[in-house]
This record gives sequence, C-alpha cells and structure tokens, in this order.
Amino acid sequence: MTDQDRPVHIIGAGPAGLATAAALQRRGVRVLVLDRGESVGGSWRGQYDRLRLDTPRRGSALPGLAIPRSAGRWVARADMVRYLERYAEEHDLEIAAGVEVNSIERAPDEGWVLHANGGRQLPAPAVVVATGLCGVPRVPDWPGRDGYTGELLHSAHYRSPRPYEGKDVLVVGAGASGAETAVDLHRGGAARVRLAVRTPPHILRRSTLGWSAQRTGALVGRLPARLGDGLSAGMARVTVPDLSGRGLRRPEAGLVTRARQGSQPIRDSGLVRAIRRGEVEPVAALESLDGDRVRLADGAELTPDAVIAATGYTHGLAELLGDHEALDADGGPAVGGGTLRAARSVTSAKLPGLYFAGYRHPVSGALREIGRDADRIARALSR
Ligand SMILES: Cc1cc2nc3c(=O)[nH]c(=O)nc-3n(C[C@H](O)[C@H](O)[C@H](O)COP(=O)(O)OP(=O)(O)OC[C@H]3O[C@@H](n4cnc5c(N)ncnc54)[C@H](O)[C@@H]3O)c2cc1C
Repeated sequence: MTDQDRPVHIIGAGPAGLATAAALQRRGVRVLVLDRGESVGGSWRGQYDRLRLDTPRRGSALPGLAIPRSAGRWVARADMVRYLERYAEEHDLEIAAGVEVNSIERAPDEGWVLHANGGRQLPAPAVVVATGLCGVPRVPDWPGRDGYTGELLHSAHYRSPRPYEGKDVLVVGAGASGAETAVDLHRGGAARVRLAVRTPPHILRRSTLGWSAQRTGALVGRLPARLGDGLSAGMARVTVPDLSGRGLRRPEAGLVTRARQGSQPIRDSGLVRAIRRGEVEPVAALESLDGDRVRLADGAELTPDAVIAATGYTHGLAELLGDHEALDADGGPAVGGGTLRAARSVTSAKLPGLYFAGYRHPVSGALREIGRDADRIARALSR
C-alpha cells in the first residue's frame, strides 16, 4: 500500500480532531478519526447540564460550518453537541468510535503505529493527536484528602446543582469551571456557596455593549505582554467592580502574562454579580482536609457538606506518547523548537508525521484557535 491508500489517523473526535479531519479532506488527504467514546464531541456530552459557551457563537464555530443562529449568542452544551454531530455528517468524516489509543510509537521504517484497545495495531503514515487539554481531571494531593469524610468530587463530574439543594458547598479554584460551578450551585438552590481562591483570577465581562471578551482577548493577546497587561488592567478597572471588600483582590500579574503561562481569564457570566450580592463568598485557598473539616490557608476551618475541586486537568500526553522527545519541559507537545503555546507550529522537526491539534488555549478562546491549528496541519501535511 502507498501512503495515498493509508489514511492519516486522528486521535480524538472533539472539535480539534473534527476540524483537522475536515481541513485535510478538503485538501484531498484521506483521514480516519478515532475516538474512545461512543460518538463525536465526547467531552461536551459529559459536561454539566447548564453549561454554555463563554465565547460567542460566531467566534466558536469551526471552519466550514456555522453554528445555527437558533443556538443564540451563548451556545448551550446540548446545541454544541448537535453542532459537532452535524459537522461530522456534513463533512462526511470517517469516524471509528470506541477505539482508545493507548500508545503511539514510530514504525520501524516510516510513519507511526497506534496501539489501541483490543490489542489492535494501526499503522499510519501520519498521526494527529487531538485528545484535548482536559483529558484527565486533576485533584491536588491535599494533606488528609484520602481520609476526608465529606463529599469530594472534581468539577468534571459535576452535572447539576440538584443534589446540592440546601447544602453548604465549597468550590475550590477560581478558573472558568470554578466560577461557573459556584454560580450554578447558588442558582440551583445551594444554601451556601464559598469559592476557595489561591490566585485571584482575571475577570473579563463576557460582553460589554455587544463587544465580546473574546474580541478583547484576540486584540490584547497579540500585543507584547507589558502592553497587553497594562491595557487589560485599565479596562478591568473600568468594567469590573473592585471586589476586594468581598474577599477577592484584583490579580497582581498581568492578564497576558498569565495567559501565556497557561492561566486563562474568566469570561464572566454571573460570578461578579454573585460575589457582590454575597451569593458566592470568596475564601482563602484550601490547605488541607481532616475528617469532615477543611482547613484554609488563612487558618479558617470549614465543615461544608461537599467540596467540588475545580482544579483543572492534565492532558495525559506523556502516557500516550511515551517518547518524551515529543513533549516539552511542561509536558506539553514540543513543536517548532519551543512550547506549543508560544509557537505557531503544529509539529516537531524531530518527529516527522506527528502533529498536535487543540493544545493552545489563547485569551481569545480555544475553539477559535482550533480552526487555525486545523488549517496549519492541513497545509503542512498536504505539502
Ligand atoms: C467546561 C468547558 C467549557 C469550555 N468552554 C469553551 C468556550 O466557551 N469557548 C472556547 O473557545 N473553548 C472552551 N473550552 C475549551 C475548549 O474549546 C474545549 O475543551 C474543546 O472541547 C477542546 O476541543 P478538543 O477537540 O481539543 O478536545 P476535546 O473536546 O476534549 O476532545 C478530545 C476527544 O479525544 C478523545 N480521546 C481522548 N483521549 C483519547 C484516546 N487515548 N484515544 C481515543 N480517543 C481519545 C475524547 O474522547 C474526546 O472526544 C471549554 C472547555 C471546558 C472543559
């Protein structure tokens, strides 16, 4: 068989895998998308019921298919799932569901071999890794965690506020997931919601007079860090009220600097209002757990009914790639001689035929960037 007959394999049928598959097909490259889930968009199916995109509909669509107007400006989770299904159908993508790739290694001659569940070995001339930044939920190894007697779960497993009606809940971590989970819990009838904050987050209003935070992100994200930091700090002072009286200080490091280190601002859809009204109470970072008690960094002790750890994810690439030449010092894909976040490249010169889609998370939102990665990969691969 020639490389023309053997399809490029894409691991992951989320937005990044689907967009890359469509871009490659448009250039006449045969593609097979593998996903461990039952269907496309697996990570969206598993999210909490009331999730809406915090980037606007238009700035969240993948290349080649608009998200229908009927989904509104802030697209709901279920509509996003339907959109991804339609995207795969309209582009007539070949998808193998229920295939979990456990490892990837270089083939003895050329190309790559994928080792998948059921003992399958899949040879491929080129591989696009699109398994997502949020593959493996991460709960810090807090002292006393294993003996904690209250309910402890990761925000990835939070579906709805219903089980927490009338309860006292501590959400840990003030990123986008923590902010939204805290607000959702309050709206859903939790008796008390506290938000444990280690590093105060940057907060952008999701939209100001029709101008979206995504656009602001795209503009400041292109500037040198000092300039972008200064501009966004000025804007925050005007558009976001000072919440320090309620326990949430303004962040010290600049927005662009933090974003380039991988920490994204919150595109606010209710947290500021909830904090101002005392509906969500910021408290110090969680330090340790002891029986049913939670100890905070300022020495306070709480006994919430549940702790929801919105403490982020790891991408699990080290397990998949084994060959650490493919990863940089932070465990992210090593491409173009630098970290993927900084580089425009989507592949490493050391590892021909191995590409990465969807591992950038700029201030302007991951979905918008995914379309760009897809195009970069299609251009590089069809060359
Ligand atoms: C709660 C939440 C809200 C978000 N909201 C926004 C937003 O509003 N705007 C925005 O721009 N971005 C947002 N993002 C960020 C980003 O756009 C999404 O995470 C997006 O789904 C990333 O797409 P992806 O294809 O890279 O990864 P995923 O959607 O995670 O897809 C990865 C796919 O790979 C599959 N997979 C993983 N490992 C394997 C394996 N070993 N073998 C086979 N298959 C595998 C998974 O089953 C999954 O289907 C959000 C993220 C989260 C978590």
